[in-house]
Amino acid sequence: MSTLRSVVSTARGRATSDGAGVRLTRVLGHGTEAGILDPFLMLDEFGSVKGADYVGGFPDHPHRGMETVTIMFDGRMRHGDNKGNGGVIGPGGVQWMTAGRGIVHSEMPEQEDGLLRGLQLWVNLPRVQKMATPGYQNLAAEDIPEAALPGGGRVRVIAGRFAGVAGAAGGIAADPLLLDVHLGQGETVEVAVPEGHTAFAYIADGAVRLGGQDLTAGTLAVLGDGDAVAVEGTTSTRLLIAAARPLNEPIAWHGPFVMNTQEEIRQAIRDYQEGRF
Ligand code: FE
Repeated sequence: MSTLRSVVSTARGRATSDGAGVRLTRVLGHGTEAGILDPFLMLDEFGSVKGADYVGGFPDHPHRGMETVTIMFDGRMRHGDNKGNGGVIGPGGVQWMTAGRGIVHSEMPEQEDGLLRGLQLWVNLPRVQKMATPGYQNLAAEDIPEAALPGGGRVRVIAGRFAGVAGAAGGIAADPLLLDVHLGQGETVEVAVPEGHTAFAYIADGAVRLGGQDLTAGTLAVLGDGDAVAVEGTTSTRLLIAAARPLNEPIAWHGPFVMNTQEEIRQAIRDYQEGRF
């Protein structure tokens, strides 16, 4: 008998901009209602049919001590870094980037068929991996396994495990579960989530019933403890379900650097300024 997780609180994102004037909605992170959900540091939704909202993109900027997960719904994200890595995350694709000790990269959104939409989630790294070698898991849409639900609907398994299907991304410290869930009206899913792991759901499209609450698009639901999450689509819906083991470490955060102490932040700034990334 599973213990279903309840909704502890809900939050809506706030409009902001980042990079070179890219308009986005910050759902999780400093200055949001939801704050930080250890080890999840930030969640942004970006997307627009107006090129002016994002055409400046995110030109060269550094990261250290954390991971960024870019999930493209529509359109593309062209990326390149100072180690010579580069490519394009296409529609339905995901990039799991482990910044480790440091990279400098650019991320430039591009429409496809007039559409651009995606999410970027920041996941913290534990102390022992903050200075690890940077790495990428570039997952094209077709690399992400999908589980068909018996009563209709489907789940794309980005990380973790669902219904015996192993996620596309692996080897991540926080042991994350990251699911892209698609349900029609009246379709349901129950997801096993380890007890003690931080968990949230973000409703991207449509509306759902979760833990006795009705949640609409743009809502982030922080989930209480338990070992499963049950969701019913009250309309055709798309939602992200995320869970991971909390790190329970001090966080020192300055822009794109996320470390444990202020001295490590000062070191990160010096290393970046002196070209050691
Ligand atoms: Fe970045």
